[in-house]
Order: sequence, then C-alpha cells, then structure tokens
Amino acid sequence: MQYHLDTIPVWEALEKDTPCLFCAMHAKLEEQQIERSLGGSVMEPDERVRVNAIGICDRHHNQLFQMKNRLGHALMTDTRSMEVITQLEKLERKAASPVKKGLFSKGDDSSIAAELRRIISGCVICNEIDASMMRYYYTFVHLWKTDSSFRRKWEASKGMCIPHAAMVMDMAQSQLSGSKQTEFNKAVIHQLKECLIQDEADLNWFTLKFDYRNHDKPWGNSRDALERTANRLRGECIKSDAPKT
Ligand SMILES: [Zn+2]
Ligand SMILES: [Zn+2]
Repeated sequence: MQYHLDTIPVWEALEKDTPCLFCAMHAKLEEQQIERSLGGSVMEPDERVRVNAIGICDRHHNQLFQMKNRLGHALMTDTRSMEVITQLEKLERKAASPVKKGLFSKGDDSSIAAELRRIISGCVICNEIDASMMRYYYTFVHLWKTDSSFRRKWEASKGMCIPHAAMVMDMAQSQLSGSKQTEFNKAVIHQLKECLIQDEADLNWFTLKFDYRNHDKPWGNSRDALERTANRLRGECIKSDAPKT
C-alpha cells in the first residue's frame, strides 16, 4: 500500500502537546467529516450513492444528530433505509428457505444473522477518517525515521494512547527495517509506560483527595487524571472538557 506524506497536521498535533496526537487528529477529522456530511455533500449525487451503499455507524449517527441539521440527516437516512429495505427483501427470500443444520452452523458467516450484520457493518465517515489516519501513521513513522527534531519533540511530549500506539507500530512494521523497527517499538512502549505511570500516580492522588484528611492538600495534576487515564487506556472516549470532579 502506497501512502502519501502529510507532515503539517502531524507536526501541528504534536505541537499542541495533547495526551495523544493521534486522538487529537482523529477528533479534528471527525469534526470536519460530520460538518462536510451535512454540508453541500448531502446533495452531491456521488456522495449520496456512497452513503446509500455503505451506511453510517452508530457513533456517527449520534454525532450527526447532535448537529441539529435534521433535514440533512433525515435525507441521508431516508435513502439509506430504502437501500436496506431492498437488501432485506433479498434476505427475506433466503430466510424462507429451510435451515441446514450442520455441526458447524453456529457463527457461520453465511447465516441470516451474519448477513444482517454485514448490511450494517460499514460507515462512510469511518472510512474517510481511517484513510486519513493511515496517512498520519505513515507520516509519523517517516518523520520519526528522518527528522531528529521531530523525534526529540515526540519523546518529550505527553505521548499517545494504547490503541493508537498499536496502530502506529503496525505501520512501522511495514515501513522500517528490522533494527529500526525494534528501536521504534522500544521507544513507543517505553513512552507509553512512562506516561501511564504518571497518569496512574495522578489518578491515585485523585482518589486520595476524596479522603477528608487530604481535603486541604493541593490537587496537583490530578484534576483530569480520570479522563486522562481512561483515554490513555482506550483512546479518547471521554472528552477532556468533561466536568471536573
Ligand atoms: Zn489516541
Ligand atoms: Zn462511523
């Protein structure tokens, strides 16, 4: 797979010094895609054909709904539903034929349930975001390999989350030689561990602050430790502007 370099967003995200530069880039892409979906692209025939064929996942339906453009969202969902009805008509015919009971029939990917899941397995917005994220992982590995100022800046940064660390290590596997890959993996894991040690220490103090004896002691860096640690473990699942304590 050939990727293109896209250094500006990667440098910009690193310079923002967030707990995960990839989560920051993902959030920005998601915001752009949601706005774009409800903007002019709702009326573009090509775009509509793609939405009709692939659909939108639960997370992105929710985000579209929050945008309060009910007409745009309804138009997309209406024509997508028509497409799903066509697929259900085909599936209905298949469902009416007698079930063959075999030893391995459970979880069979030709089962009616599996076909039903397949109908709703895609998301046009996820697809767009994933394609850009692959370019960012590729660019990150390239900059790490070729630009010592980038590497130093990243090593001094707040790191990344575990899911994104795994994604960028996958990319490194296809882009770096054996010894460079070892060096890369070691650096990523070391940084993850150091960051999580700090998150955990802050989170531990956060829990101790609930003890009345610590009531007057300073919070230090622990106010956002809960969301920071959850986001480190699973990627940005809690927005950092969530209400504090
Ligand atoms: Zn992340
Ligand atoms: Zn999605």
